[in-house]
Amino acid sequence: MIVIIFGAPGSGKGTQAERVAATTGTPHVSTGAILRAEVARGSALGREAQPIMQSGALVPDDLMVRIIESRLAEPDAERGVILDGFPRTVPQAEALDRMLSRNGRAVGLILYLEVDPDLIRARILRRAAIDGRSDDNPDALAERMRVYQRDTEPVVEHYRTAGTRIERIDGSPPIDQVTGQILTVLGSPAGAEPDR
Ligand code: ADP
Repeated sequence: MIVIIFGAPGSGKGTQAERVAATTGTPHVSTGAILRAEVARGSALGREAQPIMQSGALVPDDLMVRIIESRLAEPDAERGVILDGFPRTVPQAEALDRMLSRNGRAVGLILYLEVDPDLIRARILRRAAIDGRSDDNPDALAERMRVYQRDTEPVVEHYRTAGTRIERIDGSPPIDQVTGQILTVLGSPAGAEPDR
């Protein structure tokens, strides 16, 4: 099944996606991680993405769609993936839907992690101190939150209209508890099949 883990920057998407991937054996596809790896390699793509990411803005849709298209074409993605950080705009969601429907597939589930904005700020500023991610500074963070509300939140509406199953998860509790919640949703009878 194609699962999208959705939520604001700092909502814990990456952490949860990794744990759920490890438990279920489903590949974790993080566009943020793919881009950071390209930046670290100093590839042409990385050089293009680096200043955009640093400012908190979004990398162009066409680039992201190409990245996802080639990742989903890899053999390990055949049985499903957990998408983290994609789609981040409605055009990305539309491109994903088209890409999947060519193979008779569709997004099966959206896990929507909800976290209070004050808690998000505190988490990201703490992560900045630990990991030194260059986009975890107050200015870029403010921009990422604006972009999230303006460009990314409408993606949920897109899938609501499409009738895709959407599960809201409270992302505020401790990490283990959130993971437990998600695994419960995935293990529930309705979790095995897209609800449509
Ligand atoms: P977070 O969710 O904490 O903001 P990510 O690791 O998902 O962090 O993404 C970091 C940055 O990478 C984003 O702010 C953006 O610049 C870029 N990025 C990641 N995924 C996408 C995407 N699907 N479309 C456009 N830009 C993206």
